[in-house]
Amino acid sequence: MKTERFGEFGGSYVAEPLKKCLAEISQGFEQAFNDAQFKEMHHRLQRDYIGRPSPLYFAEALSKDLGGARVYFKREDLNHTGSHKINNSIGQALLAKYLNKKRVIAETGAGQHGVAMATACALLSLECIVYMGAKDYHRQSSNVQKMNLLGATVIPVTSGSQSLKDSMNEALRDWVNHSESTYYAVGTAAGPTPFPRLVRELQKIIGIEARRQLLERETTLPDQVIACIGGGSNAIGLMHAFYDDKKVELIGVEAAGKGIGSGLSSAAISEGTIGVLHGNRSYYLQDTGGQVREAYSISAGLDYPGVGPEHALLHKTGRAKYVSATDKEALSAFHYLARTEGIIPALEPAHALAYVIKTAPSMRKDQILLMNLCGRGDKDMTIVQEAMDAH
Ligand SMILES: *Cc1c(COP(=O)(O)O)cnc(C)c1O
Repeated sequence: MKTERFGEFGGSYVAEPLKKCLAEISQGFEQAFNDAQFKEMHHRLQRDYIGRPSPLYFAEALSKDLGGARVYFKREDLNHTGSHKINNSIGQALLAKYLNKKRVIAETGAGQHGVAMATACALLSLECIVYMGAKDYHRQSSNVQKMNLLGATVIPVTSGSQSLKDSMNEALRDWVNHSESTYYAVGTAAGPTPFPRLVRELQKIIGIEARRQLLERETTLPDQVIACIGGGSNAIGLMHAFYDDKKVELIGVEAAGKGIGSGLSSAAISEGTIGVLHGNRSYYLQDTGGQVREAYSISAGLDYPGVGPEHALLHKTGRAKYVSATDKEALSAFHYLARTEGIIPALEPAHALAYVIKTAPSMRKDQILLMNLCGRGDKDMTIVQEAMDAH
């Protein structure tokens, strides 16, 4: 097995029994990705089930209104189930099948990864168990309902802070007890080796397509590529294809919640320190005693106290730049996109859009911003309405 690190970040800090499970996935991953039959099936589902390639859209009205750079959106919101998450879920469900596992477990925060995983498992006839923090279980009942409809079992997690962090711990516990039959599908480019690289390999199609589509359209590369950061999977998926294009700036936008320094944010790079959680070394929101602090964002998908190890390295080396946007800025961007382009975005990419809105006006008209519109806003209607009522 390859030992995988991203510089000083990443690794595999797990209890002994899990080492075997992780090694099995590492090996299966290498084999499957070189197996012609696996690749053919994967490609077919990407095309006919997810709907790939997703379009690259020139936001002409928005660009004109901002009066500077030309803004392009990679439309991952148009995928089946409404976000980039399905890219990962289909790939890992296929891998579970390849490894002859009958039972798939997943952790979920607000339920987006849970729904995507339940979808992939329904398609491929796999049993699916989703661990979900009890608080989210009650707050996000429509996602629970969807998972149930898709045939998954949703287990509310009542330990600890009853959040995503605790769901992940609970899923890891289940895995130790059922390692023979069970595949654990991590939802973002974090966790122990091999998950950060496995998830990136399944998401990098976003950047590969977008780079090719933009070259066809504009015959030039973008000046900046921009994506929001929860655990970092949609961002790493977009950025990866541009690593060697040294002139292309890579921008990750974290959730600043109520503001940097307010104690209510999810900005693990902007405000965090280096530590170990969920089996890998990266940046985490921690108090001075090294306790991981609860994350907060209006956007449930960005509400994670850490960031994947590859982003930690991109930050440390300076190859990518990490900025943040507050709840308020994201909400304002959300409304702006709905009005200017007739697109209701998810609150997660609304954070990336907040950066675009700040940045585009001071750029030249021949410059290009490429942003990952990684999800649609249907799931956020109640949250947005509540925020509007509060004002
Ligand atoms: C889950 C989610 C995110 C955050 O996860 P990443 O792994 O950082 O991409 C962002 N956007 C949407 C729409 C999501 O569902």
